[in-house]
Amino acid sequence: MLALFCAGIPALAWGPEGHALVARIADAQLTAAARTQVAAILGPGSTMASVSSWPDQIRHDRPQTGPWHYVDIPIDKPGLDMDRDCPKGNCVIAAIADMRAKLKDPATPAAERREALMFLIHFVGDMHQPLHSSDNHDKGGNDVHVIFHGQPGNLHGLWDSGLLGRIGKEDELFGKLSAVSARRRRKFAKGTVSDWAEEAHKLAQQMVYGKLPQGAAGAPVEISADYERRADPVIELQIERAGARLAMVLNQDLQ
Ligand SMILES: [Zn+2]
Repeated sequence: MLALFCAGIPALAWGPEGHALVARIADAQLTAAARTQVAAILGPGSTMASVSSWPDQIRHDRPQTGPWHYVDIPIDKPGLDMDRDCPKGNCVIAAIADMRAKLKDPATPAAERREALMFLIHFVGDMHQPLHSSDNHDKGGNDVHVIFHGQPGNLHGLWDSGLLGRIGKEDELFGKLSAVSARRRRKFAKGTVSDWAEEAHKLAQQMVYGKLPQGAAGAPVEISADYERRADPVIELQIERAGARLAMVLNQDLQ
């Protein structure tokens, strides 16, 4: 579960910047048919980027949607077990499947279809944040206190927005990350949603926790320059992947 704990580094899913980037990268990779349908479903005045953080905004009013933002693959397990990690079909993997089914079905009422699209845009982003596809009994990293460039925060917020906020401005990052080759995009788009969750889980094992500096017991972990240097390319890669995969999903579902 992801709750707001420490002040300092904000702690909600990829921050709005991460979600907007994923949405903009995907938008740029849509087919003409998918783009037309996305515009019709969202309606005038909304873009994929502008609605990309909506599920975080309604989360407190609709608590049943909370578990849809993550899947708890234990950090000490090699991979996903749906019975264990997605109880009662209540996790991001099942939520993505549900939203895709609603989006594809022309009988879905317009307002519900619009919500399904907004959830889908958000959830494909969320599951690529390694802490949304793993569980270390620390509330998705919310319980791990860190100090980052002198600011107190927690590990979850660090990966949602703390690191990303220092990599660069949204427009610069969009230019950099959307310039990937078609070949690289096709490579990213392979596999299933479960494969993508396991890939993010592996990054949590190897990088998020694997490279985390060891602090004194009870003391916050000081995030080193070395950790930041290794983490930044992982974040960029995950955003690039999420964008390419969201585009693939929408191009398939909205033909
Ligand atoms: Zn979220």
